[in-house]
Amino acid sequence: MANPQETSQHTSDATAGTSGRHRVVVIGSGFGGLFGTKALRRSDVEVTMIAKTTHHLFQPLLYQVATGILSEGEIAPPTREVLSGQENAQVLLGEVTAIDLEKRQVTSQVLGRPTVTPYDSLLVAAGAAQSYFGNDHFSEHAPGMKSIDDALELRGRIFGAFEMAELGANRGDNVDHHLTFVVVGAGPTGVEMAGQIAELAHRTLKRDFRAINTREARVILLDAAPQVLPPFGQKLGERTKAELEKLGVEVILGAMVTDVDERGIEMKFKDGRTERIDTVTKIWAAGVQASSLTQTLADQTGAPLDRAGRIGVNPDLTLPGHPEVFVVGDMISLDNLPGVAQVAIQGAKYAAKEIDGRIRGKAPQEPFHYFDKGSMAIISRFRAVAMVGKLRLTGVIAWLMWLAVHLVYITGFKSRVTALLHWFVSFLGRGRSERTTTEQQIFARAALARLRGGAADLVSDPGAYDAAREMIEATRRAELEAQAAEEARLTDAGVRGVPAEQR
Ligand SMILES: Cc1cc2nc3c(=O)[nH]c(=O)nc-3n(C[C@H](O)[C@H](O)[C@H](O)COP(=O)(O)OP(=O)(O)OC[C@H]3O[C@@H](n4cnc5c(N)ncnc54)[C@H](O)[C@@H]3O)c2cc1C
Repeated sequence: MANPQETSQHTSDATAGTSGRHRVVVIGSGFGGLFGTKALRRSDVEVTMIAKTTHHLFQPLLYQVATGILSEGEIAPPTREVLSGQENAQVLLGEVTAIDLEKRQVTSQVLGRPTVTPYDSLLVAAGAAQSYFGNDHFSEHAPGMKSIDDALELRGRIFGAFEMAELGANRGDNVDHHLTFVVVGAGPTGVEMAGQIAELAHRTLKRDFRAINTREARVILLDAAPQVLPPFGQKLGERTKAELEKLGVEVILGAMVTDVDERGIEMKFKDGRTERIDTVTKIWAAGVQASSLTQTLADQTGAPLDRAGRIGVNPDLTLPGHPEVFVVGDMISLDNLPGVAQVAIQGAKYAAKEIDGRIRGKAPQEPFHYFDKGSMAIISRFRAVAMVGKLRLTGVIAWLMWLAVHLVYITGFKSRVTALLHWFVSFLGRGRSERTTTEQQIFARAALARLRGGAADLVSDPGAYDAAREMIEATRRAELEAQAAEEARLTDAGVRGVPAEQR
């Protein structure tokens, strides 16, 4: 790690406010961050968006990247490109590690290099991470699905499992553990994931292997809750379960995961019974934990945190005692709002309007009110469930609705067109356009986790690098000077060059 002196050398003051305009810092490039930034495009402000990835991620379609339908680029366009036409916005790469509410500044880091960015207004939209309910070691063998890295790792693990099964079967080994897939968490993500793996096994891959019959693969969806898709109500939950079973998914409910290792998963039922499933591929879609930035905000304001680490905000989405700081999306605990994209989008637009209104001297808005546009989950091709107001839709109609909504919200015209093409290939045909996997996709996360400083350990420390370079250059300079002096001496002595008397 860099020592403090070196750190300060590399601390850049990314102040945008050279024009004297109001400086808005936005943390996160997800739904809240991007929509908040865009909502400020006509405001007399300078927006600096700081995010730890260079893309905006459309999380609801991650499972399609994991199962080979879409490419990562289609659901994760570069934020810089998305905002290229918005002249009052700049994008900075960096993981925010500190927020100083007193000094009104945010510190972010990339590979150990810090940047300090001051603000007048702050919009925090750093979202949530996967939660293993206190069993973080489960993550080693049961990756979650929150990022492009996760989706690509899962793609490698899922398609890799069929490859390992084929190899094992050729040797005459039992390969049941390779052909068993367990998805933990029967919310929308778990349902979508289980449905897609079943389609892969029973439809997409059925002709591709010789030693194994992919249709014999077991796909298991398990949850501690007594029903599938709890927020959708009992009727839609039962309908979804029946549809999944028709697809060949085994649904196990009321089962709590008690251990996960390389070769299997253990669970405990309410009656105390325990069971182990031998499986190499486990996927965790069970819980979320708000970004740890809520802790630093809570420490500085006294705002409460709930069990999922979400921070209690005022009805106008600001923090107690800090009207200049807005928190939106998956990080907040307010009126039991769900962790869905629309909560983040509407919250961010509300905050942007408030910031703009204050600059224009307008009166404060009414408290934030979330307008529920409905929820949906896809089960398989042509099968989905949707809840819109009092309407409950299932089957093809819900699926078409799902298609339309997702097309509208995918960012960028190009991505919409190519996603539509890929859906055509996968849903009408049998193929998957994005089956490429690499060893690095599967193992890089584990390799990075073994480094104490993560990826920063793989690059030289900026301060140390500069000091070493200076030393090398000084030594080289001294050598050259000594060499030049020696040459001059030899020339003067007549040993080199034209002798003095002949010049
Ligand atoms: C697999 C999956 C499927 C989903 N499906 C649906 C669905 O079908 N419908 C629906 O409405 N919702 C769905 N959701 C939920 C929805 O995606 C979230 O509610 C929404 O993304 C929340 O928006 P946000 O802006 O709060 O956070 P996010 O969109 O998660 O954005 C957080 C941003 O902050 C950045 N960030 C995090 N920490 C830091 C840091 N320390 N420094 C800098 N940047 C940071 C991240 O890189 C990211 O850019 C799904 C979520 C997942 C994971």
